[in-house]
Amino acid sequence: MVIRNKSRFLKTVGLNWFIDILNIQFIRFLIVGTINTGFSYGVYALLLFLGSQYQIASLGSLILGIVFSFKTQGKYVFKNVDNTLFLRFLPCWIIIYFFNIYIISKLLLIGFDAYQAGAIGIIPTTLFSYGLQKWIVFKKHKALPVNEITLIKTNQPKLFMNTHLAIVVPCYNEEDVLPETNRRLLALMASMQNTGLISEASRIYYVDDGSRDNTWQLITDFNKENPCVRGIKLSRNRGHQNALLAGLFNAEADAIVSIDADLQDDINVIKDMIHRFNEGHEIVYGVRSSRKKDSFFKRFTAQFYYRLLKIMGVDLIYNHADYRLMSQRVVDCLRGYREVNLFLRGIIPHLGFRATTVFYERNARFAGESKYPLSKMLALAAEGITSFSVMPLRMITWLGIIVSVGSLLMVIWIVFGKYYLQATIPGWASSVIPIYFIGGVQLLSIGILGEYLSKIYMETKQRPHYLIEETI
Ligand code: UDP
Ligand code: MG
Repeated sequence: MVIRNKSRFLKTVGLNWFIDILNIQFIRFLIVGTINTGFSYGVYALLLFLGSQYQIASLGSLILGIVFSFKTQGKYVFKNVDNTLFLRFLPCWIIIYFFNIYIISKLLLIGFDAYQAGAIGIIPTTLFSYGLQKWIVFKKHKALPVNEITLIKTNQPKLFMNTHLAIVVPCYNEEDVLPETNRRLLALMASMQNTGLISEASRIYYVDDGSRDNTWQLITDFNKENPCVRGIKLSRNRGHQNALLAGLFNAEADAIVSIDADLQDDINVIKDMIHRFNEGHEIVYGVRSSRKKDSFFKRFTAQFYYRLLKIMGVDLIYNHADYRLMSQRVVDCLRGYREVNLFLRGIIPHLGFRATTVFYERNARFAGESKYPLSKMLALAAEGITSFSVMPLRMITWLGIIVSVGSLLMVIWIVFGKYYLQATIPGWASSVIPIYFIGGVQLLSIGILGEYLSKIYMETKQRPHYLIEETI
């Protein structure tokens, strides 16, 4: 808006040519680059003025200058303001720095003095840094999620088939949030029933996963107020995944949506999910379009985890938790998976069927605190890997081979040193470190074997996933 006003101002004073020139990315790069250099020099001079040594001053100006130029180039030159790009920007700048030194040294050899070489070197360095940043750092990717979102919003199909819907909500100590969740879900159901999108027989199933607070009392109250609310009480806490299964297997409907109780997932997306279902999709995944509201730690670990699973060959939907729609047929197929170690996010893509995704913004928890502390998160993460991939077992073999070859080389080296070089026998470090190292590798390997062994142990018992104490 502001920029448009500025350009209108420039047009009225007859400076159209200036706008045209500014549309050339390289020109903007030159202008912003000059300002950046001025800024770095300003920081350098200021630090000197404040009494720091020139080494400290130049280091400070280098660091601030790099951050400043990343920000300004992203914003004004390449118009791509994604902060994660900084990780690519930094190595690029190190390369550019060495390139500059190389050019200057060549110019010095030809016979220029240091000042001349520095001045001439600016030209190739600028061209090089422009290219490097354009192609490596600020490269624009196709913004797929955004397109998908607009697609959903604009081309919403008008198929009203009176779908019989069930919404399954696992709840563990959720008394703080449940009244609000129930209010919003009922309002959503009513609006979907009014437009004929879902049938009057549609239900909400709350699964109480052995809560120790008033959750079950609340659920029974909801049921008295409105019979379309149902409740399933498990005999004790069995964890989110099992509570979810209890709901899925006991809900009767054409389409079943699972959603967390804490209102982190945008419930309005359920409408889109049903449209997709009516188009013939049997699984509709709710995928977060961004993780901006998550902490840096959660975002970073989640991304690392998805990458790791991909490497290990586990087929996961990126940024999808357990917010999804499934047809009754898919849920029936899920019954066939009798494994005790359950990782639904991995199993469902494994089922096949016609699937699609809808995107939404994930919010912070509405009330109460997360029931997934770090320890449970790590357990779920390990579950995901060990129940879908045997790669860690194979890695042990590779680690064993590498360590053995390494020690063999070490033996050769010691023998060679002793008889040919007459060198002194290596000290205790070289004999003690490998002992610790190999000890560590062995313990790790045994631990991984134990993980799989414990899985087999649990599977052979074939215990039920959950026990229902009461249903309403
Ligand atoms: N939950 C459950 N059993 C548990 C832990 C969690 O049923 O042992 C439910 C919880 O009530 C919520 C959902 O699983 O509806 C997700 O939990 P939470 O929101 O605490 O996880 P986060 O979003 O922090 O990963
Ligand atoms: Mg949550």
